[in-house]
Amino acid sequence: MKQVVLMSNNKHKIEEFSHALSEFGIEVLSAKDIGVYDEPVEDGKTFEENALIKARHLAKYTSLPVIADDSGLEIHALDGFPGIYSARFMEGHSYIEKNTAVIEMLKEKEDKSAHFTCVIAFIYNGKELTFRGECPGEIISEIRGTNGFGYDPIFYISSLKKTYAELEEKEKTAISHRGLALIIWKEYLKSINF
Ligand code: IMP
Repeated sequence: MKQVVLMSNNKHKIEEFSHALSEFGIEVLSAKDIGVYDEPVEDGKTFEENALIKARHLAKYTSLPVIADDSGLEIHALDGFPGIYSARFMEGHSYIEKNTAVIEMLKEKEDKSAHFTCVIAFIYNGKELTFRGECPGEIISEIRGTNGFGYDPIFYISSLKKTYAELEEKEKTAISHRGLALIIWKEYLKSINF
């Protein structure tokens, strides 16, 4: 069985990638599975740079193909904030607090549009590639829904009249930034008969 290593120990992420790759008969290993416990400093300026920093870190330890992803929420009226700082914004605070703060920051702004971005970095046979998925939406002024994680309860998809947090996991994957990046990456895997 083919194997790829994901620069993550997040169980949910490993399951999501494993599920996406099941049609290829590829086993997804975590960083811990190959004995990598340390993490690189994510000091890139873009999602692409940070995804590659993580993938390159893992590639130092293995000759297997490696993948890493980096994602975040970009709010247009705030010049793309929190963007690559999505996880680090108000670190130590709950997402209820973070989401409430975002709603407050947008209170006086007319433009509530935003998008989520996910970049998957893939390194194999000495090649480095990145695949980007984006999902447009808007920030609503209340916290809605209990599914998902992070900024899901304030990210509203007008065509579905639901926030990310009101979608079932499958529904979210079908339209989400991560789901789209996975689709684009899988198209590439097919094109090279991986
Ligand atoms: P990561 O790069 O996938 O670990 O994501 C970084 C941060 O972006 C997360 O900690 C969340 O704050 C935010 N984020 C990324 N994807 C999502 C999502 O699908 N829903 C909500 N928040 C997300």
